[in-house]
Amino acid sequence: MNRRFSVQKKMIKESLKRLDHPTAAQVYEEIRKVYPQISLGTVYRNLNIMVEDGEIMRLPFSGAPDHFDQNPEEHYHIVCSRCGRIFDTDGIPHELLAELDEAVQACAGVEVQSRILIFYGICAACKKVQ
Ligand SMILES: [Zn+2]
Ligand SMILES: [Zn+2]
Repeated sequence: MNRRFSVQKKMIKESLKRLDHPTAAQVYEEIRKVYPQISLGTVYRNLNIMVEDGEIMRLPFSGAPDHFDQNPEEHYHIVCSRCGRIFDTDGIPHELLAELDEAVQACAGVEVQSRILIFYGICAACKKVQ
C-alpha cells in the first residue's frame, strides 16, 4: 500500500467517525476542506476498497446514494423518515434474529448468511418539534 493511499484512507476513516453514517459525497465535502486536492472519485474508490476489505460497512438504499459506516461488524439501522438521520440499533436479541432467519429460510429455501436490516421511523428530535 502506498503512502498517499494510506493517508487518504486514514482521513476517510476519521471523517466516517465524525460524520456518523455519511454518503461518499458528504465524506468528500468534509475532507476537501483540509485536503482540497482530493477528488470525489478517489473518495469513492477508497470507500469501495475499504468495504471489500471488510474495514467499513456499506448501507445500500434503493434509489438513493449508499451510506458508509465506520463499524464493519453486522449491526442494524433505523432511519428517521423526516430528517434522514441514521441511527444504530443496539441490542436486538440474537434469538429474535435466529427466528427471523428461520422464517426467511422457510419461505425462500435459502440459508441466510448475513442480513441488512433498515427500519424507518420518526426520531426523538423530530417528534419534539411536531
Ligand atoms: Zn429525525
Ligand atoms: Zn451503524
